[in-house]
Amino acid sequence: MVVSRRGTGHFCYNCTVSCRIALYVHVPFCRRKCAYCDFVSYGGAESLIPAYVSALKREMAHYGGTGYQVGTVYFGGGTPSLLPVKALGELLEAIRQHFAVLADAEVSLEANPGTVDEAYLAAIRALGVNRLSLGMQSMDDRELAMLGRIHKAGDALAAFRMARNAGFDNINVDLIYGLPGQSVEGWLKSLKGVLALGTEHLSLYALSLEEGTPLWRAVNEGRLPPPDPDVAATQYELAEDILDAAGFRHYEISNWAKPGYECRHNLTYWHNLPYLGIGAGAHSFLNGHRYASTPRLNEYIEACLGGGIPPRVMDETIRPELGLAETVILALRLGEGVSHADIMRRFGTDILAHYGDVIGEMTRAGLLETTAGNIRLTRRGRLLSNEVCWRFLPDDVSEASMSLQG
Ligand code: SF4
Repeated sequence: MVVSRRGTGHFCYNCTVSCRIALYVHVPFCRRKCAYCDFVSYGGAESLIPAYVSALKREMAHYGGTGYQVGTVYFGGGTPSLLPVKALGELLEAIRQHFAVLADAEVSLEANPGTVDEAYLAAIRALGVNRLSLGMQSMDDRELAMLGRIHKAGDALAAFRMARNAGFDNINVDLIYGLPGQSVEGWLKSLKGVLALGTEHLSLYALSLEEGTPLWRAVNEGRLPPPDPDVAATQYELAEDILDAAGFRHYEISNWAKPGYECRHNLTYWHNLPYLGIGAGAHSFLNGHRYASTPRLNEYIEACLGGGIPPRVMDETIRPELGLAETVILALRLGEGVSHADIMRRFGTDILAHYGDVIGEMTRAGLLETTAGNIRLTRRGRLLSNEVCWRFLPDDVSEASMSLQG
């Protein structure tokens, strides 16, 4: 429960026994590492899955008795679809045992199309997973090979159809644009190919070349052309138009949903509300603290199986000024933007008085606009969102200090 002390400019996340949280479970196993990936994930370490699942259950047990109400559960990775059905069933049972899971909870699982069949999907649907997120990334086999994905476009199509047959009526598809050498036409082919499937939700991410990854090296060594930001901007804007015409709601910078299919779990992050991350490398935001567990698998497993909590590699108290800035920055990602009333209710702060200079400057630059009670990014502002958002951070804080799960 979020409690504000109205009028003091102070806030606290005063979790009581009835605190509502989003629960994230990190599954850091992949068949092999993709060429662009710098997430906490390990290729070829699947033999550790049984010990890791036991460790997850032990970590969850620490929260037994806290009374946390769980409105959403999200299995992210990594590749959660590498979890055997039995292991996933045990984890869901542990979650229900240690947390008060709401009857209408959204339960999402990320799946790699190269790892699932219809029997698996039907089994996890029967266990209570009610939202599937398919990491398709592209519908072009050459692009998938460049990305180092283990699947081909045909596998992705088959996985989507199998998910439907298995009873999933809430499916997200991830796609990446801005790839080296990817034309606007090539991108539209992938996007339209996915649209033809009738998905309820799309997450479209611009490729981020992460230093040290094989894809970054290929670009740096001249084996691949560098991504072209102008092409990426065109790809994004065309996607906005096409998805708008197809009846999708652009509810977050990178996310589109048919009405009623917005991801409730990720909305918790964007509303800067409490979440608990379980697993190696998982982040949490509880009681005004943000913290992250060790990403090292063995360290995580040993700590949990030894009866302790996993070592933390980051633990930060979010002071009120930073909490306010983060809430504004995260809400600016949303289509509806930041609500004056919400900021006043949670922080006792008039956003226009507090950030008047920045809002004025960004509005004159055509990057922000004010609608009934809300401030939001313009279409151009969405393309330059990082430049806009970081202007709201306190002077002594860098953008690197903000992180999101998943
Ligand atoms: S499947 Fe996802 S988490 Fe695993 S290596 Fe590829 S991008 Fe990274």
